[in-house]
Amino acid sequence: MPVCSNPAFPMRALLAGARRKEQALLRLARKLVAAESPSDVKASVDVCAGLVADRARALGGIVKLHRQREFGDVLEVRFGPRSRAGSRNGLRQRVLLLGHLDTVWPLGTLKTMPCRLSEGRLWGPGTLDMKAGIAMALTALEMLTEAGLLEQEVILLLTSDEEVGSPVSRPITERLASECAAVYVLEPAQGLACKTARKGTGNWRIDVKGRAAHAGVDFEKGANAVLELARVVETVSGWTDLKRGLTVSVGVVGGGTKSNVVPAEAWAEIDVRIARKSDGPRIERRFAGLKAMDKRCTLTVTRGINRPPMERRRGTVRLYQKARALAAELGFTLEEASTGGASDGNFTAALGVPTLDGLGAVGEGAHARHESVVVEHLAPRTALLAGLLAK
Ligand SMILES: [Zn+2]
Repeated sequence: MPVCSNPAFPMRALLAGARRKEQALLRLARKLVAAESPSDVKASVDVCAGLVADRARALGGIVKLHRQREFGDVLEVRFGPRSRAGSRNGLRQRVLLLGHLDTVWPLGTLKTMPCRLSEGRLWGPGTLDMKAGIAMALTALEMLTEAGLLEQEVILLLTSDEEVGSPVSRPITERLASECAAVYVLEPAQGLACKTARKGTGNWRIDVKGRAAHAGVDFEKGANAVLELARVVETVSGWTDLKRGLTVSVGVVGGGTKSNVVPAEAWAEIDVRIARKSDGPRIERRFAGLKAMDKRCTLTVTRGINRPPMERRRGTVRLYQKARALAAELGFTLEEASTGGASDGNFTAALGVPTLDGLGAVGEGAHARHESVVVEHLAPRTALLAGLLAK
């Protein structure tokens, strides 16, 4: 039997342990931030993965690299007792700790946005999203290993392409998650809250082809692609339904050549967010059914839903309640929140595996110049992670 709701479970001891390790945790986080790892530079992401792998091996983890050609290698590390794949008991006791190595920041960002400690925060590119979260996970695993409290198998999976939609890591994440009883995601907290629901995301591109003509001499012979695109923009924007949590936002448009030429080409890129899984196929059908009003124009509609929504299901709520109870023992209140942003947790939740997200660092400014982590929350949140993994 797993160690469930043991009243004597030493949460306070875990907190004291996390406080003792806070300086080492910060050093590790800084080391990972110094290894800049933009999604599109494989070699750099691999260097960052190497640092984590070295640390994980030192803690007794069994490292496996899922080699990639275009993106960085995906890092899988197993800790704790091995549970047999396929056995019901094994499934019940194995958990996935999910994060990503890549950041949105290009190489060289550190020159103008250096990693530094000031005003009680760790600043720098990728601190919050999510290198501090990785350092917290390794520290939690270190504490549990040292205390002999790791009684279930933990798989730490760090993807290399999360910030660009997880094109290569998605099948790996889904396969491992389907062998686990729970998924804990190391993305930053939402304010102080963890995340029990996330919207799903979609991207569409629409290309309109019309017919070019001299705007003065041959106006009637032209089929204006920009005008047709404007109608499409109006139509798809009208699909937004805030009550359902469905938004369609045309983010980028382009088209035409010169003002005195009836434009033959125009295009738009569109961001779609859905709160309900069932809205995925619905919105896909609507995009597929778009037709040009000017019959001389043709529309090409590409892409689609990328991440299904993480809906607030019963299994996830149970994980949240467990986390909330542990947090209370640690002396803080853990709220839950939902967000419009997506993570790899969307994939695991959509498989029906209970998924609790936002268990990484507390801070502000992910993807922004003021990206930073609040140092005082590192130890309590690391103790919380350790508690979740131990039980
Ligand atoms: Zn992230």
